[in-house]
Amino acid sequence: DFSSWSQETIVAISTPPGRGGIGVVRLAGPLAVAIAGQLLRLRNPLAHATARFAEVIDPETAAKLDESVVTFFAAPNSYTGDDIVEIAAHGSPVILEMLVRQCLNRGARLARPGEFTERAFLSGRIDLTQAEAVKDLIGSQTLYQARVAAGQMGGALSRRVHPIKEALVGLIARLEAGIDFAEDDIEVAGNPEILTAVDTLIQPLNTLAASFEHGRIIHSGLTLAIVGRPNAGKSSLFNALLKRERAIVTASPGTTRDLVTETVAIGGIPLHLVDTAGLREATDEAESIGIRKSRETMADADLVMLVVDSTLSLAEEERVLIATLAERKALLVFNKSDIGGHTPAISELPTVQTSALTGEGMAELQDALLALVSSSGAVETDAVLTSLRQHEEVSGALKGLLAARAAAATNIPHEMVLLDLYSALRHLDSLTGETTPDDVLNLIFSTFCIGK
Ligand code: GDP
Ligand code: ZN
Repeated sequence: DFSSWSQETIVAISTPPGRGGIGVVRLAGPLAVAIAGQLLRLRNPLAHATARFAEVIDPETAAKLDESVVTFFAAPNSYTGDDIVEIAAHGSPVILEMLVRQCLNRGARLARPGEFTERAFLSGRIDLTQAEAVKDLIGSQTLYQARVAAGQMGGALSRRVHPIKEALVGLIARLEAGIDFAEDDIEVAGNPEILTAVDTLIQPLNTLAASFEHGRIIHSGLTLAIVGRPNAGKSSLFNALLKRERAIVTASPGTTRDLVTETVAIGGIPLHLVDTAGLREATDEAESIGIRKSRETMADADLVMLVVDSTLSLAEEERVLIATLAERKALLVFNKSDIGGHTPAISELPTVQTSALTGEGMAELQDALLALVSSSGAVETDAVLTSLRQHEEVSGALKGLLAARAAAATNIPHEMVLLDLYSALRHLDSLTGETTPDDVLNLIFSTFCIGK
């Protein structure tokens, strides 16, 4: 509970490990100001939301060890809700660690991962979906991911859930009142009225649940399997795409028979390119492993790019594959346009002509990939469910509402309908963190970085 542990003062280095121009030590809690006052020589006393110049004192000689800029936020108007002092010194690990040690000697303790944000949540300054968004923002790999996280941090998801919850509480209150006053012949909600009320709750929750697909894609990205016969130019195109798009993840180690994966950002979505081995018949065992892997990769991938050597006529296996891929989100690339390749008319799939060698057609290939990625985006809304946890709570709430709907459709007593409505309410409460069990909270915050 917040009141007991807001008594503790916590400290951490909030900037990433290593050396930098600036490094920040963050202190939060009732001792924050007093401790900072002992470590620093301030020309002017700390004032709320004001940056101050300060000398960092060498604890052994009392001489000036560094210069820093110190910011103070007074409780309750700070990130965590308690007093926060942030010391921005030069980013030398020795100095930052000395500062932390001095804080520990004076009664602070080391902050656990995510503990500053956990305090912000426990003090009621942000709800759980906003806390999760802080982590997403820090972890974002594309600007688009960051924008979605920023929206959720600003409460976009909470704002969407809030009116649904209020309406649900209103419905519950009406049913409870009807039960309490039934003997006094007070007008109780009729079943058709309940059905309508439940339906108006189900609809926006369905939209939210569907947004998870988009959230999952923003968060985890899409996989593109690059397939085709040997020597069609798969690896060349893979490398050409990496060169054009800034790679956001380094290559996972792999041999020639293994799959090589790299991630690029297409339209703000992480696109995991997988270069597969050829799809020809196996001639030896090692090769058959590579081929099995490429078939599995193709089956698992969100998107498929079939590369064909356009100087050769289409092979039977390629025709078969094109027919299969017509059912999927796929792209057909006729490569080697520089040496007189030709593009047969194929209506089943979007088609691009390229030369991995000269770069001809690469811009068109990128556009085609962007179109493919965009068409996989599912519903895009301002509020997006970004974690499995959030999706499970919304699904749980929907399940409760559907059960309540089914119960209300029969002539079951309202007490039974209420049970299902309460179950839905519990799920909405844990979505925003109003009644989330401690172990779930611990799990969520333990995945944060230290100092946030
Ligand atoms: P993969 O087996 O499908 O991965 O094909 P590679 O990317 O390894 O390419 C096979 C051969 O074709 C290599 O010698 C490449 O240099 C060559 N190649 C790939 N793309 C092109 C292209 O667009 N034009 C030409 N002329 N050669 C290409
Ligand atoms: Zn290859």
